[in-house]
Amino acid sequence: MKKYEHWEFLSAVLDGSRIARGICAMDLRTMEIRTFPADAIIVATGGNGAIFGKSTNSVVCTGSAQSALYQQGCYYANGEFIQVHPTCIPGEDKLRLMSESARGEGGRVWVPKTLNDKRDPKSIPESERWYFLEEWYPKYGNLVPRDVATRAIFKVVYEYNLGIDGKPMVYLDLTHIDRKTLDRKLEGILEIYEKFVGDDPRDTPMKIFPGMHYTMGGLWIDYKQSTNIPGIFAAGEAEYQYHGANRLGANSLMSCIYGGFIAGPNAVQYAKNLQAAPGNGHFDAERKRQQDINAGLMKADGSENPFLIWRELGALMTENCTVIRYNKKCQEADARIVDLLHRFQKINLSDRSQWANTTIAFVRQLYNMLQLSRVIAQGAAMRDESRGSHYKPDFPERDDKNWMKTTKATFAPDLDEPKFEFEPVDASLIPPRPRKY
Ligand SMILES: Cc1cc2nc3c(=O)[nH]c(=O)nc-3n(C[C@H](O)[C@H](O)[C@H](O)COP(=O)(O)OP(=O)(O)OC[C@H]3O[C@@H](n4cnc5c(N)ncnc54)[C@H](O)[C@@H]3O)c2cc1C
Repeated sequence: MKKYEHWEFLSAVLDGSRIARGICAMDLRTMEIRTFPADAIIVATGGNGAIFGKSTNSVVCTGSAQSALYQQGCYYANGEFIQVHPTCIPGEDKLRLMSESARGEGGRVWVPKTLNDKRDPKSIPESERWYFLEEWYPKYGNLVPRDVATRAIFKVVYEYNLGIDGKPMVYLDLTHIDRKTLDRKLEGILEIYEKFVGDDPRDTPMKIFPGMHYTMGGLWIDYKQSTNIPGIFAAGEAEYQYHGANRLGANSLMSCIYGGFIAGPNAVQYAKNLQAAPGNGHFDAERKRQQDINAGLMKADGSENPFLIWRELGALMTENCTVIRYNKKCQEADARIVDLLHRFQKINLSDRSQWANTTIAFVRQLYNMLQLSRVIAQGAAMRDESRGSHYKPDFPERDDKNWMKTTKATFAPDLDEPKFEFEPVDASLIPPRPRKY
């Protein structure tokens, strides 16, 4: 098997019958654009955290490949289901995860009861601390699911104004557990905090805040892990299957492994039965299409800075399409994304070098992020209910009668925007029941 490292997937090569015949990719060092023939393709390009600016995802998780495929005709499903993790370590470059295991081993979330309390947290007596998760959810306390903990932290910070030092942060405290136990059970994750923040969480309560963490939506696939384009399969966080509106901790790696086990043999089986393509002109056509995009970008000398457009997109999506959603705000976010897409047409490519040009790769990803953001914002606006990570104060209940459905977006090239349809979810084997705490 030959591995092509530092090559970026740009698009699928589709024949005249819209059957996948290979991929088109770009060498991130030489900037060469090349097509690769393939009878079957398995997409495993991860989540789309970069759409939200900062997230716990790796910075390579832009969702660009999924968006390119969506723009080529793949369904993108449940785009609105974005998981926010309650306990992230804020960082200048990206967010880092403080694993649930910290709460699992007894970590307690709290804020000082007094507004703008500047005291060292260790000097604040128990009676002056508010352990709000334990108070609001006595049955599960600090172990409530991600979406519940996240919304509670938001409430304390934004409604009660009790964030540490007036900032969006709360304490996650392990200092009541002895060092030996912490080292034995949590050394790895505590080292991350120590390394990036500089404080030792064995002595000082950690400062944490919720952040974008997981993409439950993704490329629509069937039970064979096949997308709706013949020859394109998907596995892992890039596809939508299995997690519904609220992925549970540890289920992701399980779904990655399971999806891979299913996609692999099915892709082989598919390839064995595939008829040869008539001619191979579509390879040249796709390569030329992608080369033309690069040539156009290389000449881009407008006034807009693509990195600022990305920052604006991240702030917009985090504010309107994560923890709390209002229809009006989701619709406004969508309108602003359209505006960002117009501004994208006037970008300036600051780097025109032909070697390892990271700007051109980023700008391509940015365009795809903008297109995919519209699927997320519009999907969030449409789903008039609250379900898992998708929470609307105006529709606080789960509505199985109307919304036990998968959202499926297709790209309408003539309109340059998503079109939506909905697929019922088969829950006949295990009847859904409300989640009550
Ligand atoms: C901090 C953190 C902690 C987590 N902890 C857990 C846990 O404890 N348990 C659990 O089950 N899950 C956990 N998850 C979730 C889980 O790790 C991910 O869902 C999973 O790793 C996704 O695997 P993947 O192979 O689908 O994608 P990734 O591991 O994200 O891999 C995607 C790959 O595709 C490449 N790629 C992306 N775009 C392109 C392109 N256009 N062309 C070419 N290559 C591309 C990327 O470079 C990357 O190598 C965690 C996630 C994070 C961020």
